[in-house]
Amino acid sequence: MAAPAVDRPEPVVAGENSSRAVNRVVRAGAWVANRLLAAVFPGRCLSCGVPYAGIGPNSPPPAAAGFDLLLGRFLCPACRRSFRPVASPLCPRCGLMFTSRVGGDHLCGRCIRRPPAFTAARAAGVYEGALMQAIHLLKYGGKIQLARPLGRLLFDTFRDCGAMAAADLVVPVPLHRRRFRERGFNQAYLLVREWPNWSRLAGADGRSVTVARKALVRRRPTVPQTGLGRRQRQINLKNAFAPGPDAAGGRILGRRVLLVDDVFTTGATVEACATVLLDAGAQVVTVLTVARTL
Ligand SMILES: [Zn+2]
Ligand SMILES: [Zn+2]
Repeated sequence: MAAPAVDRPEPVVAGENSSRAVNRVVRAGAWVANRLLAAVFPGRCLSCGVPYAGIGPNSPPPAAAGFDLLLGRFLCPACRRSFRPVASPLCPRCGLMFTSRVGGDHLCGRCIRRPPAFTAARAAGVYEGALMQAIHLLKYGGKIQLARPLGRLLFDTFRDCGAMAAADLVVPVPLHRRRFRERGFNQAYLLVREWPNWSRLAGADGRSVTVARKALVRRRPTVPQTGLGRRQRQINLKNAFAPGPDAAGGRILGRRVLLVDDVFTTGATVEACATVLLDAGAQVVTVLTVARTL
């Protein structure tokens, strides 16, 4: 498509007019094509960038229904297929999923040697592929629109875990105020923010979930945990957490607390938090995360 040269010395009027007309037609054509494309491919996958069609009535049945439906607006079908739910056989204590898919649940070596402070930890999916990417986009890419579907994925996992669904207080793992100012939000809180509404709507036993946003505070900024071993993480986290205003006046006393975070890696963060909550009088602490490393 030849655009008229702006510095043409002697413009041929008829030629210029027809060239403008062609440009107009081309622009109109491109606009129509873009609108059609947008109708068929409403978005690009946040993970791989590929345009894809949304979930429609003719979409094939998903491999993992919950994840597929919840993340269908954000991730393409190929990326969604990388989701692997955490499933038995696993360690009933720390939730470690065993690589061998045969046999029943049993305690892992680490939980036998040194039982954690929390009673049980579970996660919605394995920390890999599109789930890992979605968590990174939420935390570091500012894609806070992912907090709702990931929070719902976590809420559905919470309802499916019988023992955890009995929790009467949901506590998000806090960020240090400096990190909070940098990021602008605490992703763990965003994940549970709508749980009270969802639990009222679900209404199975009429119980509503209570979120205690400030039951814990992070006293000092810890260096990022990535790349640290288990022992270094424990040192890094020593005395990092303390009871917050929502734990004052014995408000944690005798409560069954569910601690929520985005990722469980070594478990050092939730272990430190669970210890503080138990010291503050919690009857039991369970842990739920969106993802878990293998
Ligand atoms: Zn994709
Ligand atoms: Zn274990």
